[in-house]
Amino acid sequence: MNMTLELWQTRAADLAIEGRAFINGAPCNAHDGATFACTSPIDGRALSQVARCGEAEVNKAVLAARRCFDSGAWRGIEPRERKKILLRWAELVRQHADELSLLETLDTGKPIADTTSVDIPSAANCISWFAEAIDKVSGEVAPASKHLLGLVTREPVGVVAAVVPWNFPALIAMWKCAPALACGNSVVLKPSEKSPLSALMFARLAVEAGLPPGALNVVTGFGDTGQALASHMDVDCIAFTGSTAVGRKIARYAAESNLKHAWLELGGKSPQIILPDCPDLERAARTVAHAVFYNTGQMCTAGSRLLVHRDIKTEFVDRVLNAARNYMPCNPLAPDTRMGSMIDASQVDRVLDFIKQGRKDATLLTGGHRVLDGSGGQYIEPTIFDCPRANIALVKEEIFGPVLSVITFDSVDEAIALANDTEYGLAASVWSADLTTAHETARQLRAGTVWVNCYEETDDMNFPFGGFKESGNGRDNSLHALDKYTELKSTIIKLK
Ligand code: NAD
Repeated sequence: MNMTLELWQTRAADLAIEGRAFINGAPCNAHDGATFACTSPIDGRALSQVARCGEAEVNKAVLAARRCFDSGAWRGIEPRERKKILLRWAELVRQHADELSLLETLDTGKPIADTTSVDIPSAANCISWFAEAIDKVSGEVAPASKHLLGLVTREPVGVVAAVVPWNFPALIAMWKCAPALACGNSVVLKPSEKSPLSALMFARLAVEAGLPPGALNVVTGFGDTGQALASHMDVDCIAFTGSTAVGRKIARYAAESNLKHAWLELGGKSPQIILPDCPDLERAARTVAHAVFYNTGQMCTAGSRLLVHRDIKTEFVDRVLNAARNYMPCNPLAPDTRMGSMIDASQVDRVLDFIKQGRKDATLLTGGHRVLDGSGGQYIEPTIFDCPRANIALVKEEIFGPVLSVITFDSVDEAIALANDTEYGLAASVWSADLTTAHETARQLRAGTVWVNCYEETDDMNFPFGGFKESGNGRDNSLHALDKYTELKSTIIKLK
């Protein structure tokens, strides 16, 4: 059916929304009945009351996960069978894609065009991709003396806690859950308090697909719920995506409890470098705008620093200003909306504070305002600053909003130095017609992903994703993700 704004609005009004946590294969309330309100940033409407899980629910979920793990109900079944169940889960996600996309849009303010084409299909693909890996990844036989046979096998680590943010709630949750479950672990997932809804539906569909009770649990709540998981003595591994500030705390909780593995995917302040021989200024300008305004800039990989060579600066920045006009925020339920709302009022205030300071430190080229005021929602227009120097908050800090900072350079070496002048190291891009220059520049960029003449290009789950420096450790996606959720075991057999 050709969906319109009105049709999506009608469906939204009819949507039944589950707000109970999901533990041991069934929905459940907090033991004391505590809840928190989940509202939509699109227009401020109430969506649901959601269970506020405390230590009691975390203990219950970890116990369910542990029992499932120890009983072998999930890890013990044939790899082929586990693969089938995960593939069935992915299929159920696809069958419910409209409902899940709508839920995600209502909960986060993302455009429905994005949740139907990116978030939910990519989450389903992630599940299938790791399901397919289950019966294809083998162990190793180590080189050893002829008197020894050395087997190197991967074993699931045990109970995995996944604590995730609100900017890609379903997708990032699956980046953790799919590989962890594929390896045979049991999982306790904690979505962000700002976007808890899709995770609950994914868990229900997982059980419908045949995942045994306790293999995937969802506890809903705030930072204290995440802290209880990260500090839990019976959690073997914590996989976290979120801010660098909370990542530091997670590492501390892990160290101060049972030294569980702590995998951290954190913030970024990614540079986009435009060299004077950039092959296609118009395509580059549109890509630069997309890289910072997609998802209202609420992206860990947001290309929020534009480093442009002085010789082409005026022409290039004009083109970016032009491209930015395509991202004026509109109702996220309208199918042609490219930029929706921010996640909530506090994020809007945070971004407006950066803009206020930016007006003192730099030159505002466009934007800078909250818009769609009468909607009851949380909208900011695309904003671009020309920055006279790099040691200002606009250039240094992760803003996590639709704000681009332009910095001018005169040589490739200066561009590389500026690009690396950050505590982060998540992503970067370089644009040049000369592949040697591009490649030599890419080599010197301290970032987990470097795009050449593009941004945010990827191919399913095939590339490892994660950061250098304070952008974290470990990698999501690709077979490297399995390293996080497995222990290596050497079994050494003495031959006669
Ligand atoms: P956040 O760090 O505030 O919260 C992330 C999660 O941690 C949420 O579920 C939250 O409830 C929980 N949490 C908060 N305090 C906690 C505590 N003390 N102990 C345990 N858990 C706690 O991040 P956010 O605002 O939800 O997301 C935005 C941040 O996430 C940005 O910094 C962004 O760059 C980062 N991010 C990184 C990646 C990546 O892959 N590198 C991807 C997306 C987002």
